[in-house]
Amino acid sequence: MLPVIALVGRPNVGKSTLFNRLTRTRDALVADLPGLTRDRKYGEGRLGDQSYLVIDTGGISGDEAGIDQVMARQSLMAIEEADIVFFLVDGRAGLNPADEMIADHLRRSAKPCHLVVNKTDGIDPDTAMADFYGFGLGNPKPIAAAHGRGVLSLIEEVLAPFPTDAEQDEALEEERSMRIAIIGRPNVGKSTLVNRVLGEERVVVFDQAGTTRDSIYIPYEREGQKYTLIDTAGIRRRKHITEAVEKFSIVKTLQAIRDANVVVMVIDAREGVTEQDLHLLGFVIDAGRALVIALNKWDGMSHDDKEKVREQIRRRLEFVAFARMHFISALHGTGVGELYASVHEAYDCAMAKWSTNKLTRLLEDVVADHQPPSVNNHRIKLRYAHQGGSNPPIIVVHGNQTDSLPQSYKRYLENRFTKILKIRGTPIRFEFKTGD
Ligand code: GDP
Ligand code: GDP
Repeated sequence: MLPVIALVGRPNVGKSTLFNRLTRTRDALVADLPGLTRDRKYGEGRLGDQSYLVIDTGGISGDEAGIDQVMARQSLMAIEEADIVFFLVDGRAGLNPADEMIADHLRRSAKPCHLVVNKTDGIDPDTAMADFYGFGLGNPKPIAAAHGRGVLSLIEEVLAPFPTDAEQDEALEEERSMRIAIIGRPNVGKSTLVNRVLGEERVVVFDQAGTTRDSIYIPYEREGQKYTLIDTAGIRRRKHITEAVEKFSIVKTLQAIRDANVVVMVIDAREGVTEQDLHLLGFVIDAGRALVIALNKWDGMSHDDKEKVREQIRRRLEFVAFARMHFISALHGTGVGELYASVHEAYDCAMAKWSTNKLTRLLEDVVADHQPPSVNNHRIKLRYAHQGGSNPPIIVVHGNQTDSLPQSYKRYLENRFTKILKIRGTPIRFEFKTGD
């Protein structure tokens, strides 16, 4: 699982500043889901070969009455979801009654907590930390989030016990099954779809004890093929339906996306494509996962409403045009069987292997059709290509002056390769290397 770090502290101690620094290492991965999360913001970061999630929790102001109010609900929920808590205090402002209340709560919680003293730039860190030794939360760690000082060693320290991405991938691959994550906003019909998929006659669901890491990973077999369904709605554990917002977990969703080979994104056709849907899809794209889109609750919709949704999809989902789209009813089972064909196609494309020979010949053909431009009177040369990875497929192109290759030409390559290699259902990435 991706390690999850929650940032808590009163307003203005520098949580957002630290959040931006921790999640900045990979662009565009910072996303929040307004409406679902109140004040929490989720982002993904990476240190070397270790990815992690960060939750920023707005602020806990000192004005509230008791600890329950001070530790605003969303902060409590973030702590609950996290593996590690960074409790931020302001090294310039010194000790504050709100800090003491938060410290009191964290001392009693079982979560590993690090007391982080921020804004120690331009002041004596020892003096700044002096106030905070009495908290009983271990040694305070001085940082200056705005300048990045102390941040790297802090993050290195907390991530050390966690496995690297490669180690996690290896553990997943050992299960030798196709991993499908069913994700989507609350109430779009995920649990209904999961039930539908697992309830099929041809499906044999295995006892999970000892076979998977978490009860949301459900191994099953269908027509001789092994699958693991990653069930973010958690139906297997749900005894009764609680509040929609409660059962939806962004952390679980983001972890599921990372662990999946193929993501089935469920959208409620009756609601249309919402901002939150787009945010979630953004995460899928950033993770490079294969993708199938299921427009659910297609049953009983009027002709006009269907047309409206189709039109909206054309506009809003153009950025995921590589994904197959299915109009289904999880409730009645219509269209659910057909999802498998697209899931398999996406998986096969995401996992495909091409020889250097084949990719290089393809590159030569594509370049012969349309030459890269010249820079400083020298034509950019693209010499050969090889595959650098899968899920998503990565094509590494070697040449000279590739740094100057215009975006439009990169798009041309991407389009041609996608078409000729018949890639469907997965994004493909290009990397360019200059040299010999
Ligand atoms: P949040 O309310 O806890 O999210 O705090 P912000 O990240 O919004 O920061 C509050 C203020 O503190 C902003 O004006 C930041 O520029 C400032 N700040 C954050 N980190 C540092 C730091 O390391 N040093 C200094 N001097 N100021 C900082
Ligand atoms: P989740 O929160 O995404 O797991 O959503 P649920 O599976 O719990 O479904 C939310 C509600 O939508 C329930 O009342 C379902 O019965 C209903 N629902 C799910 N799929 C469909 C569908 O295909 N058609 C219709 N009409 N309702 C559906």
